[in-house]
Amino acid sequence: MKIICIGRNYSEHISELNNEKPVDPVIFLKPDTAVLLKKQPFFIPEFSQDVHYEVELLVRINKVGKYIQEKFAHKYYQEIGLGIDFTARDLQQKLKEKGLPWEKAKGFDGSAVIGEKWLNKNSLDNLNNINFSLFKNNKPVQKGNTKDMLWKTDEIISYVSQFFTLKIGDIIFTGTPHGVGRVETNDQLTGLIEEQQIFSIQVK
Ligand code: ZN
Repeated sequence: MKIICIGRNYSEHISELNNEKPVDPVIFLKPDTAVLLKKQPFFIPEFSQDVHYEVELLVRINKVGKYIQEKFAHKYYQEIGLGIDFTARDLQQKLKEKGLPWEKAKGFDGSAVIGEKWLNKNSLDNLNNINFSLFKNNKPVQKGNTKDMLWKTDEIISYVSQFFTLKIGDIIFTGTPHGVGRVETNDQLTGLIEEQQIFSIQVK
């Protein structure tokens, strides 16, 4: 199982990090060891003083595919989920400045929260108009809507499948909206799709 992440997919998030708007989707991977195990808290790693939450909508691949055309991409997933792409922002910034890969800042153990609850896409009216949000200690910190994605899910699947064969169980993180921020010990992070709670995790 692999985790494919899309960077810079919401323009307001691109602005908040002073990044340039990309010509093509920004893609990076997390190893399977990045998945935060069920019911476990997230431990802030020792190598970072500035770990950020990034809430993101997820899709789970349910069919093997390569060179998937955009018009057929909808056949390759049935479920929509929600997760967090934890990012060691201080380390990522250093790596970015040197033009080096981001993996240490993005792929460390526990950095991929995958909500235990998945929604059948048929239960959602319009995949290009899904509200999702992240609450920190019961206060809203991120609100997103899929209509603001620069690349929609089907375009992402088509694009990434040119480079990586998609396999059953692979998960795509589709990018974060604005409002990312630092986590502190004892924070409680709760993610919702529309009004439904998808995950709630503790930071240690
Ligand atoms: Zn992200």
